[in-house]
Amino acid sequence: MRAVVFERYGEPAEVREVADPEPAEHGVVVRVEATGLCRSDWHGWQGHDPDITLPHVPGHELAGTVEAVGARVTGWRAGDRVTVPFVCACGSCPACAAGDQQVCERQTQPGFTHWGSFAQYVALDHADVNLVAVPDGMSFATAASLGCRFATAYRAVVQRGRAAAGEWVAVHGCGGVGLSAVMIAAAAGARVVAVDVSPGALDLARKFGAAECVDAAAVRDPAGAVRDLTGGGAHLSLDALGAPATCAASVDSLRRRGRHVQVGLLPSPTGTTPVPMARAIALELLGSHGMAAHTYPPMLELVRAGVLRPDLLVTSTITLDAAPPALAAMGGAAAGAGVTVIEPWS
Ligand SMILES: [Zn+2]
Ligand SMILES: [Zn+2]
Repeated sequence: MRAVVFERYGEPAEVREVADPEPAEHGVVVRVEATGLCRSDWHGWQGHDPDITLPHVPGHELAGTVEAVGARVTGWRAGDRVTVPFVCACGSCPACAAGDQQVCERQTQPGFTHWGSFAQYVALDHADVNLVAVPDGMSFATAASLGCRFATAYRAVVQRGRAAAGEWVAVHGCGGVGLSAVMIAAAAGARVVAVDVSPGALDLARKFGAAECVDAAAVRDPAGAVRDLTGGGAHLSLDALGAPATCAASVDSLRRRGRHVQVGLLPSPTGTTPVPMARAIALELLGSHGMAAHTYPPMLELVRAGVLRPDLLVTSTITLDAAPPALAAMGGAAAGAGVTVIEPWS
């Protein structure tokens, strides 16, 4: 099969022929029809993820059809249209037993713990625990966008953040996860303030339901701007980027008893990230990572009903050959607004 491979962190990846994957006894191999390009792939390529060993194939937001099925899989067969959360759970550890598959203690992640979906085929573990059927009528590109950023945003806004109608919700960072959060919070009836340094990203945020926008490159104090716009601070605020500045701005943009949800990964060269903890006694500081497969149905129902439109987040579709330079561009401000999807067979 053809796959995007990198041999060293931060050096250009290339498309080459590699061996097709085989399914584990409990797993499947999926023919990848669409796979999203996410900032987490860029972090992995930069060497920020300790799970990765070289050489490596990135890619973790995917949808496609089941190609091969392991001997112990009972719920899936070749030809099924599927997607998957980027955290593939074991199904049997204490976290999984509690229903918290998104923080499974023995999780695997395509594109991190093993080769991912920037390829024509990908192996996925514990298929009966992790696969999600793609509803009829949903395109593979749309389904791919659910697996990481949209589902992550849904859990952060709805399940962790408890966004409610009439509340102010601030979203710091309007990449794929941030724009998803804007759309989901607006659909919940919240008034959304979108914060980003990119006018293009803010234009999309407005299109997806943001009531107010703050250009963080143009104001001295983005958190102060959010407090002014919201009459004293947001009820819920997300760091959807993952940087010390956006984390601090998210916490500082809350009113008393507000909820901060850390969504973006916060890699830190020094091992610690400064957070304005002096305010924590009057706040809720939360984190969110992914979403368990068994909690997908309410989200899929909102997509089916047209209340949520993840398809609108997909702003660009590219070939496998165009993926290496697009991966490199994810680290800079030049990364395009919205979600880019790779189609490995095009
Ligand atoms: Zn991702
Ligand atoms: Zn588990």
